[in-house]
Amino acid sequence: MGIPKDPCGFVCFMVTYSAILYADYCIIIEVLLPTLIDSLWGTFHVVAFNIFIFLMVLSHIKASFTDPGKVPLPKIAVDFSEARRGSRKKKKGKTNDEWTVCKYCEMFRPPRAHHCRVCKRCIRKMDHHCPWINNCVGERNQKYFILFLFYTVLSTVYAVSLGVGTWSYKTNGFTRTQIESRRLHIIVMFVVCVFFLLYVIWILYEQIYSVFHDTTMVEQVQNTEDMSRSPKSKVALLTEVFGAGSYIKWLLPWNTSNTIHSHEGYEIVQTV
Ligand SMILES: [Zn+2]
Ligand SMILES: [Zn+2]
Repeated sequence: MGIPKDPCGFVCFMVTYSAILYADYCIIIEVLLPTLIDSLWGTFHVVAFNIFIFLMVLSHIKASFTDPGKVPLPKIAVDFSEARRGSRKKKKGKTNDEWTVCKYCEMFRPPRAHHCRVCKRCIRKMDHHCPWINNCVGERNQKYFILFLFYTVLSTVYAVSLGVGTWSYKTNGFTRTQIESRRLHIIVMFVVCVFFLLYVIWILYEQIYSVFHDTTMVEQVQNTEDMSRSPKSKVALLTEVFGAGSYIKWLLPWNTSNTIHSHEGYEIVQTV
């Protein structure tokens, strides 16, 4: 996990961290130091902005390095040619509440698991493979992925607000060239932040839609959303993704105990 599996993932990784470092440099050196160095507000904004950056980076690392829910490979190889033929015939009326056979992994997989061609494994409740985290988004790391998007939105909105808010502040002792250079940095940071903000809001909306409709991107594309599943409350759906316990823990990118994971017990079936 996390170690570049494909060139696209590597490029996205470099772009993400370059943008984060540049935004942090701009906020501290170009935006706050020249304008609010003598004010407590300067210290407050540096600390608050870096807390958001810390939570965003931690969410990104957790989303990238956490096992998204790989279905364990069987210990003994089984001939699935017959079952494969059967599953091909049944494909039309397929629902996502059945165990299926993965022709690539040569094994049974639990309901809602799908094969990722980049990870080369079946992932439980796979949503999609995301180059920005260089990992699949699945049952076990969706919380971290959503938090990464959430803190990216907060950080970019904060950065843009500080840049715009201090645009015409007095910069004591700055020459005209230094003021122009400062403003150029703020403009570049503004463009980078707005680009990421629009893109991330769109993905965050899709993730929230998936959570509240108990579906995944794969199921939406394959049109295999299970309408027969009994409806759950919004809190129950959020708990499945973010874990049980205090709601505050939902906002923190570390493990929450009692996280509910669907379809545990696949090991038993796998050995039958
Ligand atoms: Zn597979
Ligand atoms: Zn994947």
